[in-house]
Amino acid sequence: MTYAQTVLADVKAKNPNEPEFLQAVTEVLGTLEPVLKARPKYEKAGVLERLVEPERVIMFRVPWTDDAGKLHVNRGYRVQYNSAIGPYKGGLRFDSTVNLSVLKFLGFEQVFKNSLTTLPMGGGKGGSDFNPKGRSDAEVMRFCQSFMTELFRHIGPDTDVPAGDMNVGGREIGYLFGQYRRISNEWTGVLTGKALSFGGSLIRPEATGYGAVYFASSMLAKKHQTLDGKVCAVSGSGNVASYAALKLISLDAKVVTLSDRSGTLYVEKGFTEADVDKVKACKEVLRGELEDIVDQIDGAKFFPKKNPWQIADSIDCAFPCSRQNELDGDDAAYLLKHGCKLVAEGANMPSTPEAVKEFLDSKILYAPGKAANAGGVATSGLEMSQNSERLLWSAKMVDDKLREIMSAIHDNAYEAAAKYGFKGNYVMGANIAGFKKVAAAMMAQGAV
Ligand code: NAP
Repeated sequence: MTYAQTVLADVKAKNPNEPEFLQAVTEVLGTLEPVLKARPKYEKAGVLERLVEPERVIMFRVPWTDDAGKLHVNRGYRVQYNSAIGPYKGGLRFDSTVNLSVLKFLGFEQVFKNSLTTLPMGGGKGGSDFNPKGRSDAEVMRFCQSFMTELFRHIGPDTDVPAGDMNVGGREIGYLFGQYRRISNEWTGVLTGKALSFGGSLIRPEATGYGAVYFASSMLAKKHQTLDGKVCAVSGSGNVASYAALKLISLDAKVVTLSDRSGTLYVEKGFTEADVDKVKACKEVLRGELEDIVDQIDGAKFFPKKNPWQIADSIDCAFPCSRQNELDGDDAAYLLKHGCKLVAEGANMPSTPEAVKEFLDSKILYAPGKAANAGGVATSGLEMSQNSERLLWSAKMVDDKLREIMSAIHDNAYEAAAKYGFKGNYVMGANIAGFKKVAAAMMAQGAV
């Protein structure tokens, strides 16, 4: 067995009940053989054994009372995965599906993603099995305050800087930040994704979706193509999906789908910016479902409980922006059969291993999440810089930096893949480039 295979077997034996974590580790270790072979010193220094084990996992009780006075208990987590290249950085997810396996997979991915951004940020992830959907603002506030009452002792601007993720948007970040400031008696940039009125960055809400589209543009540019006129299927209707859709529309691409747990909205002639604004209002203000607004969008059809991948007869590009494992092997085969030539992942690990294999075998342009959706955390890094400087950069300055970073991530992944004989394979490129920087930092810092 090779070094990577031996470590993988050990991870499987130690974490048998963590399928998402095993899926992420299997995918990454399976691509590192060429680097590990070229540099045997990584094995001697136990770099992989250390990379697959989080530096620290914190798990805690989160008691809170609902509006009727009933007490509930949720489980809170922070996985501080790897801080070799900077403070732990990564979002908080509030969803009933949150467990240790999901957060370890997200934290592991975040280490490589943050390394790719070129900024000094380590990887972490956290959250709770609490779902804010259907809860009043007052209930969400009490939950966030209780969550932060424990989390605050583990984080700090030079230690660990959480951000939002699924179901953690501006409202939740505001309540979390308020409680941190209250109990620490300090105003520091300890969370990113803050509102502009208290230290947020312009373009941070847009950054993940915009960044995925910038990455897709960079891939197409290598083929002397643009997004102009391309028919795009986007999944999700949250933060990442809505801004990916808006950026695509501004580049004259045709966005034909958006989705949520209720199903998929399909608009054959393409969503307009005004349509996407209606979707945003439905999700962010009314906190409703897409099926409630089908009548408000001209030409829209609604497909209940269906994902967007097998609806349109002809698709050029797919942007999965919803959740892990939302696009399986059958979906991938359908997309390829109906013309899809580009997949850029706004979500984390949205394609199953079978789907990834289909995309790689067909040699279409396929950008894995850790590269394509790194724009969000990169702009969080820019928010940290602005907080340290006590300055607010203009939207243009942040957007220009985001474009530069996405272009650098693209080129870095492209060149790393080419260097090891896998030209055009962005999975190999992103994993190798992300790994090499973290491994170099770990080697330089000794056995820690
Ligand atoms: P979000 O605003 O909460 O939106 C999530 C979207 O996915 C919603 O439309 C949601 O529908 C849908 N969804 C969730 N679970 C689903 C399910 N089981 N079936 C069908 N639809 C489902 O979250 P987000 O911030 O956009 O994050 C989306 C993805 O991007 C996640 O994988 C996240 O880790 C990744 N990501 C986010 C960022 C960031 O900056 N936000 C950065 C990098 C990566 P409902 O409204 O019906 O729940």
